Amino acid sequence: MTETSETAAPKCPSCSIVGVEYIVSTPSRERSKAKQPWFYIIHCSACGHVYNTLSKHTFTQAVTPNFVLPKPS
Ligand SMILES: [Zn+2]
Repeated sequence: MTETSETAAPKCPSCSIVGVEYIVSTPSRERSKAKQPWFYIIHCSACGHVYNTLSKHTFTQAVTPNFVLPKPS
């Protein structure tokens, strides 16, 4: 496990370009009533290969704590 650059720099399986700077996220064109994008497309900026899509629901879950904070009185 000495090749730390292997894990730090992802490689595009489609065009073999290496580097996180080539991985970009684009919000969907469709917007909700709150003008938030419905999902984000994570893709390669060099060839357009899509790695993943992130839904707004996923984002909401990620930032919402699993416990209820006591309201300050
Ligand atoms: Zn690519």
